[in-house]
Parts: sequence; C-alpha cells; structure tokens
Amino acid sequence: MNTTTQGHQFINGEYRLGRGGTAERINPATGRVAQSLDYASVADVEDAVGAASAAFDSWSRRTPGARADHLLAFATELGTRAAELAALETEQTGKSTRMSHEFDVPGTIDNVNFFAGAARNLQGQAAGDYAGNSTSMIRREAIGVIGSIAPWNYPLQMAAWKILPAIAAGNTIVLKPSELTPGTTLLFAEAATAAGIPDGVINVVVGTGREIGEALVRHPQVVMSSFTGSTAVGRRIMEMASETGKRVHLELGGKAPLVVFKDADVEAAAHGAVAGSTINAGQDCTAATRAYVHSSLFEKFTKRVAELMDAMVVGDPTDPDTDMGSLISLGHRDKVASVVQRARDSGASVLAGGLAPEHPGAFYRPTLVTGATQDSEIVQQEIFGPVLVALPFETEDEAIELANDTPYGLAASAWTNDLNLAMRAAAQIQAGCVWVNEHIPIVSEMPHGGYKASGFGKDMSSYSFEEYTNVKHVLISHDTDVHKEWQDTVFRQR
Ligand code: NAD
Repeated sequence: MNTTTQGHQFINGEYRLGRGGTAERINPATGRVAQSLDYASVADVEDAVGAASAAFDSWSRRTPGARADHLLAFATELGTRAAELAALETEQTGKSTRMSHEFDVPGTIDNVNFFAGAARNLQGQAAGDYAGNSTSMIRREAIGVIGSIAPWNYPLQMAAWKILPAIAAGNTIVLKPSELTPGTTLLFAEAATAAGIPDGVINVVVGTGREIGEALVRHPQVVMSSFTGSTAVGRRIMEMASETGKRVHLELGGKAPLVVFKDADVEAAAHGAVAGSTINAGQDCTAATRAYVHSSLFEKFTKRVAELMDAMVVGDPTDPDTDMGSLISLGHRDKVASVVQRARDSGASVLAGGLAPEHPGAFYRPTLVTGATQDSEIVQQEIFGPVLVALPFETEDEAIELANDTPYGLAASAWTNDLNLAMRAAAQIQAGCVWVNEHIPIVSEMPHGGYKASGFGKDMSSYSFEEYTNVKHVLISHDTDVHKEWQDTVFRQR
C-alpha cells in the first residue's frame, strides 16, 4: 500500500486522497508519529455510497456460487499478504506480534473462507402449500448498501466481521474504520479488489466518527447501519438511524464475568482468567473483567492469578517474546490507570500490576484488584484494559446474581466440573456467549453478539445473515380461476 501518494480512502476499487484535511496517526507503543492520514470529507462519503449503490445491482444478482468463488480467491490473496497485514496490525494497535500473527490474521482468513461456504447456504423455510391451492416460498434477498462503523481494538477482524456477511449475502458496503487504526482495513479492501471482487462492492472511508461516521449513518441511500463500538456511541447511532428508519445492528461494550464454582479446577481457572483478561491488553469486548470465585478457593485463585500476571512480559509488541504490548493510546492508558487508582482510593487492594511504566508508549501492567464492592465503578463499568477484579461468593444463586448484575451481557464463563451446574449456569447467565471451563475462544461458525446494553444482532456464523437479508414471502396460485373462493369474504361473484 503506497500510503503517502495514493490517499487513504478506498472507493470504487481504488485509493483516493480524502478531501477532509489531514491528521497524524501515532504508533501507541512508541508514542511517535507513524503516518499522516488524509481524512474523508462528506463529499467522499457521498462518492463511496454512490459507488456501493452502483455496484449493488450486479453484485446482488450474482449466484451464491459466483460470490463464493470471489471470496475463496480473496482468502488466497489475504494469505499472500499475511505477514504485511500482521506487521501493520501490530504497528497501528500496539498489540503483540504473536496476537497479530496467530490470532488476527488467521482468524480473518478463516472468516473469509467460512463466508465463502455460507454464501451457498443461505436458507429459508421449505416451500409449502399453506393457503390451499397455492404454494408459498421464501426469497432471501440482499438489502442494499450497508454503512458500517468499526472500532480500533481488532481493526482487521472487525472489518472482516462487518464486511463478509454483508457481501456474501449480496450487499455492498461502505465501512468506516476507527481513525486510529485504518491501515489493515484499507489493505483488506485492496486485497479484495486484487482478488477480483468488483469495484464498489467494498469501500472504505477514513475520518472521525462525529463527521464521517455520522454522515454515513444519516445517508438516505444507506439501508442499514452496522456498528461495533461503545454502548454510548451505539445509542447515538440508533437515534440517528431512526431519522431515515434504517435497520440497525449494534455490537457494543461488555463486562464479562468469569465464575469459579466450588468444584472448579483452580489452576485451569487461573490460567483462563489471566489469558481472558489480558488478551489484546484487555481491550476486548468479551475479556474476563470480573472473577466471582467461591470463597473456599478465593485465596488460592487470586494468589495464582497474581503470580501468572506478574510473570507476563509486557513491552515491545514486535518482539515475539512479548506477551502483552501497549494499549491503544496514552490517553486511554491514563483512563485505565485512573479507574484502578480510584478503586485503590476507595479501599480496594491491587495484588498485581496497577503500574504504568515510565515510557513514551501506552503500557500498563496486567492488574488484579480485590476488595472492591459490587456497585463500584471498577466492577460495573467497562474499563477496556488488562484489569481483572476478583470478588468472593458463597452460593450458586449469589454467583449467578452477581454475574448478571451489570448493564452488559456480551460474554461470560463458568468454571466447574459438575455438568448439571454447568448447564444451569449456561441457561441463567444473561449473555450472548457462555463458555464452560474456557474463556475467549471464538469460531467463525458460531454467532457473536450481545444481550442487554451489549447490543443486538449477530456477527459471524450464518446467524449474521439475519441482519443482512430481507426475507420475502412469495405466494404462487395453482389455478387460473378468475374468482378465488376466499374472495367471497370480500365480494361475492354474482
Ligand atoms: P467508539 O464507540 O468510541 O468508536 C467506534 C467507532 O465509532 C469508531 O470508528 C469511531 O470513529 C466511531 N464513532 C465515534 N463517534 C461516532 C458518532 N457520533 N457517530 C458515528 N460514528 C462514531 O469505540 P472504540 O473506543 O473505538 O472501541 C471500543 C469499544 O468497542 C468498547 O466499548 C468495546 O467493548 C466495543 N467493542 C465491541 C465489540 C462487540 O463485538 N460487541 C467488539 C469490539 C469492540
């Protein structure tokens, strides 16, 4: 990608220079300027939506098999760019190179391959003769131009989660990545074009949420706003989308509980808690943030989690030995640090971390807090950093009640070897995903989406097609009678 001369908007199959001014992008791990970006203007959004509209007719009419062939070629093309994608993902987010190479890039390619297959399996109810003397059938149709807005935590995977179900179902899309991390989304769109996906099917506009995000949501030719980001912005999007009555799909914040029951394997739960709370430096909407631990295991669990956290290598994200890189910005790091400090000030204890090393990069050590109260900020609010709060419980009912006691409901885990208890927990925890004796694994075949303030609608899996298609009922009469019997109800043939 020739980022300096070609511009940072990808519209109608080519890079363009945005007309909305310029801004510097910072490498969060070094604190240094990484590049100067051109931003889109509202006129560029207009062009991108125009390109997506022009491409819709032909793309939506292709057979599922033809779209699948394009997606398979796209997956192959991404494979040839895996190293470049991983390096750029690490540079723009500060995440460890192991995450980029072993999680973000292969996960994205797997998603492309999944949707190549899923495109050929868009299903509806079987045809049936429900009204008598006629057959009803379902047509599942693409809905039009999708406007998507994505966050900075997993820029490449979020672009994939938004773009793939939309285009596999025959829609075209304009995506606005976070202005902090647009690089791999642009490369993703460029690779799609190189693989033969027609111009205008995937467009990317780069700019601020306030200006470019809002212009995209408000655009009358955009039929659906698909958003992943914070709950506050998601609510604003819903409000704006109501102006034109468009469909909304919201993947919002999370505050996942990790519940360690009395019979759990403490060592496994401690490992799960550390991996689950520090993945992507805790900037993961499904990250383990609240550990509720049976009081009989509490001391053993917290001691082990603190040991494992203290042993983690935090630093240069490009070093393969690094476990955890930087957070997304110094400003965000300071917000995380201030939540921990306020918890300390209110009497909580910090058993591991709680430290921001002296460095121009946005680093923060994996942190374990105990002694906070259930109603405190650190337990109730999304922090989006590598911070786990542990609280003890006595009974199963209490554990479930505490797990459900935040506004969010995206993901949760239950740690137990009692099958009946695992089934009760899976049923009673209000979240879009409940892991048992695990925390984090996601797969392309299974849906990802929230309950409560974590939003609605699903990413990944065939369930995501529900968001990106219209279901149409077609009824075909079996006869050529001029007057049908049921019409007597309205007017009798005289
Ligand atoms: P954010 O809400 O600040 O920004 C997300 C995107 O919205 C960015 O592209 C931003 O430019 C844009 N935006 C901001 N204001 C806007 C506005 N008024 N109109 C239109 N667009 C606007 O979120 P973030 O800080 O980038 O990401 C972190 C958040 O994302 C966390 O809350 C996290 O839980 C959430 N998240 C959720 C999921 C999920 O699947 N549920 C996945 C990843 C991240």
